[in-house]
Amino acid sequence: MSDIGGPGGDNVKVIVRCRPLSDMEIQQGHQMAVEVDEVNMRVTANNPAGEVGEPPKSYTFDATFGPNSKQVDLYNRSARPIVENVLEGYNGTIFAYGQTGTGKTYTMAGDRSVPEKRGIIPNSFAHIFDQISKSGDDKTFLVRVSYLEIYNEEIRDLLAKDQSHHLEIKERPDVGVYVKDLSSVTVGGADEMDKIMTLGNKNRSVGATNMNAESSRSHAIFTVTVECSQLGIDRQQHLRQGKLHLVDLA
Ligand code: ADP
Repeated sequence: MSDIGGPGGDNVKVIVRCRPLSDMEIQQGHQMAVEVDEVNMRVTANNPAGEVGEPPKSYTFDATFGPNSKQVDLYNRSARPIVENVLEGYNGTIFAYGQTGTGKTYTMAGDRSVPEKRGIIPNSFAHIFDQISKSGDDKTFLVRVSYLEIYNEEIRDLLAKDQSHHLEIKERPDVGVYVKDLSSVTVGGADEMDKIMTLGNKNRSVGATNMNAESSRSHAIFTVTVECSQLGIDRQQHLRQGKLHLVDLA
């Protein structure tokens, strides 16, 4: 997880979550090879194939979450500060990294139908609109989303009508690096945002079937842009803009 440009603390944070053993792993007699110390933010790995007396290895991170960790606690510790900074006009990026089956989808998306099992993505959507609804009358918000895919080194707009069109990366001194002609859709609520993401997901190139083919890796970036216009004490409108990038690495 990274939190770029926000106030306070380091700009990049690495948080580790270890999932519980699956039923199949338990049936096959596997045992947890890691111990998670959430208080001291440490993961200790024991090598099951190691020599007798081999000392375990300990690693410290910005936060650690064990097999019984709750989605809401993970959200509060990892994503909440980033989303809060985006609402203040900073940019932030969140991504999950790990081998297939380690729990990336569970952590990022989770089970949307069960509130306490919702992952970072639906929780951040709800959080953004919840904060906006609580903000004072002096502030006006505009929320937009865009969704792109990088597949075989080509960029496609997952929200565009024409999916055969490829986009270009450009750079300008005033805006930095950007994707030319990427569409952006104005969104009025968390459910709408969820629907747009689902729509974009349907346009992604790689289905579950050929997920492992090295040549067909698909990366995607869902960007939420939050613009706020606030009336200052000088009676002038002050504009600020923050972006939340949710990245799905292949
Ligand atoms: P990935 O996206 O990294 O391939 P998944 O998110 O699909 O992995 O997780 C693999 C399996 O483990 C799924 O059945 C998922 O429900 C389960 N799982 C992952 N993380 C957790 C967790 N923290 N608690 C309970 N079950 C989990």
